[in-house]
Amino acid sequence: MTKQTLSFQAEVAQLLHLVTHSLYSNKEIFLRELISNASDACDKLRFEAINDGGLYENDTELKVKVTFDKDAKTLTITDNGIGMSTQEAIDHLGTIAKSGTKDFVSKLSGDQKADSQLIGQFGVGFYSGFIVADKITVESRRAGMKFDEGVRWISGGAGDFEVENITRPERGTSVILHLNDDAMDYASAWKVKGIINKYSDHISLPILMEKEEWKDGELINPSDEQGGRQPGGMVKTGEWETVNKANAIWARAKKDISADEYNEFYKQISHDFEAPLAYTHNRVEGSTEYTQLLYIPGKAPFDLYNREKSVGVKLYVKRVFIMDDAEALLPTYLRFVKGVVDSADLPLNVSRELLQESRDVKAIREGCTKRVLSMLEDLAKHDKLPETTASAEGVTDVVSAEDKAEAAANAGKYTSFYNEFGAVLKEGLGEDYANKERLAKLLRFASSTTDTVSVSFADYKARMKEGQEAIYYITADNAAAAKNSPQLEVFKKKGIEVLLMTDRVDEWALNYLQDFDGTPLQSVAKGAVDLGKLQDEAEKKAAEEAAEAFKPLLAKLKEALKDKAEDVRVTTRLVDSPACLVVQDNGMSTQLARMLKQAGQAAPDVKPVLEVNFEHPLVKKLDGSVHFNDLAHILFDQALLAEGGLPADPAAYVKRVNALLV
Ligand code: ADP
Ligand code: MG
Repeated sequence: MTKQTLSFQAEVAQLLHLVTHSLYSNKEIFLRELISNASDACDKLRFEAINDGGLYENDTELKVKVTFDKDAKTLTITDNGIGMSTQEAIDHLGTIAKSGTKDFVSKLSGDQKADSQLIGQFGVGFYSGFIVADKITVESRRAGMKFDEGVRWISGGAGDFEVENITRPERGTSVILHLNDDAMDYASAWKVKGIINKYSDHISLPILMEKEEWKDGELINPSDEQGGRQPGGMVKTGEWETVNKANAIWARAKKDISADEYNEFYKQISHDFEAPLAYTHNRVEGSTEYTQLLYIPGKAPFDLYNREKSVGVKLYVKRVFIMDDAEALLPTYLRFVKGVVDSADLPLNVSRELLQESRDVKAIREGCTKRVLSMLEDLAKHDKLPETTASAEGVTDVVSAEDKAEAAANAGKYTSFYNEFGAVLKEGLGEDYANKERLAKLLRFASSTTDTVSVSFADYKARMKEGQEAIYYITADNAAAAKNSPQLEVFKKKGIEVLLMTDRVDEWALNYLQDFDGTPLQSVAKGAVDLGKLQDEAEKKAAEEAAEAFKPLLAKLKEALKDKAEDVRVTTRLVDSPACLVVQDNGMSTQLARMLKQAGQAAPDVKPVLEVNFEHPLVKKLDGSVHFNDLAHILFDQALLAEGGLPADPAAYVKRVNALLV
């Protein structure tokens, strides 16, 4: 076949025009695209060779070589993959087969600025070479074809290209970029290696470059490797070195990877010095195919509570690095997870915007979320050492030494996880409706009877009193305030456990959880106390009678405190304290309102209800006291203090108390 000149398909011409005329914000991606093509070509050869081993032509070491020639101004990427026949070169490099790219081209408006923004969102693949080259020569021979059936393809990236038949003993493809003057810095080993490390480190294929050495160079500035030595410059040594890690740990089989290797990889991607708490590694097959390798760190970063903080998952497409912090791959409440997702289905040039919309990404996100949750469930399950059970026959130990060691290694991990990340996990109740139930099971709290943060809703339910119909909890600024809150008094007296919620996120999160496994959650600081069946008839009667008898006093209190309290009523929830504050059933707690205000956010002015303990001496003294007004205010302000708040006018409060003390 003699040389022939062919025109590009109209869409290709359009695309090329755009590639060469629009300024790419990151030029360097051309190398990623071309190396990815080389890697694809090797994968294809490997696949076809399954049925026809002869295709290897006795050369089974698949690799990519990157070379440059400063004088000739070329950068060449060579692979020994499947190669192309002449017809394939014409078809694959002259037309656009991919529907995605076709779609893209059809969206082009002709407005250069808008179009160049669009182009960043789509893969331009092979044509990205024209970002740095004003001419590209491709020489190739398809595996299994005769030496003299090679092809040379040349184009200047305008309307047409040339093809001719050549003799090429080497199997595979060389893409020779004739660099334009602005791109001459890509004819540098240092620059090229940097790009390969950034994007192609985990391509499983070795990427080779020729070693260089300084020629009569004098070390002028040792800290500056590039400019440090003058005059002769770098010269090639004829030796080749692998410049990528060529090891995508996640692409290997689980059974071949040691725990040490997993841990090392974690340290590398997370910049953490410590080993992770747990990891999960899976290949997911089905309509969306991807591999996930996800880690739970041992320690929380200092900026964990910053919800803007990026998610620590890197996205790869077929082992080519695409982006860090791919927030679309995990919900925000799992932002502590680190790892890698490698998809086989996404385009190389996928943008963040596109990620948000992709159906594949949605499936990946759901899959990753489920995986992390099961990893946590597993940790939770093994948090406590199993108790050795003594059987009737006197056999006390049926657990193997191995199982014992494993149990010991896993014990306490969930507690440790929860101490670091528990508060963030709670955000999931509001954020991830679909997994709410699973999340609720993973939550742990301190309680009025347990000091450590270790009580699950299920534990609580198992310990509920006969006749108890709700899971009781209290929110407060800290554990001491929660534990000593007046609202807990009656629960203590009756021996009812109350969960103590002291994380800032608790009240917000619990808004999204009305019940656990059919049992309603009830704040002890909201609404009138209704212990239901837990209260005996005598108590109920006494309360009703008191309410009746105290009516005039309540009216007077209400009048005195009309600016502060929504209502004043008698209560049975108090034992030792004279009064406490509660809010209406569906109202925002005073504590949350206070927090929001501290954070500078808008919060409704919650007027709480003052509940008084009619059996308390101070309350009994109120009636007929000459200090009625002062006592009323002190009663209210003290109730506020008891739950960690501050009187609206602290000085007035001090004055009143002092007046009485004197
Ligand atoms: P994509 O890689 O997404 O298919 P590209 O524009 O990167 O799109 O490449 C277009 C086509 O050109 C490839 O699908 C492949 O058929 C062919 N091709 C490109 N580079 C090579 C190569 N190094 N070896 C063999 N074929 C190649
Ligand atoms: Mg490609």
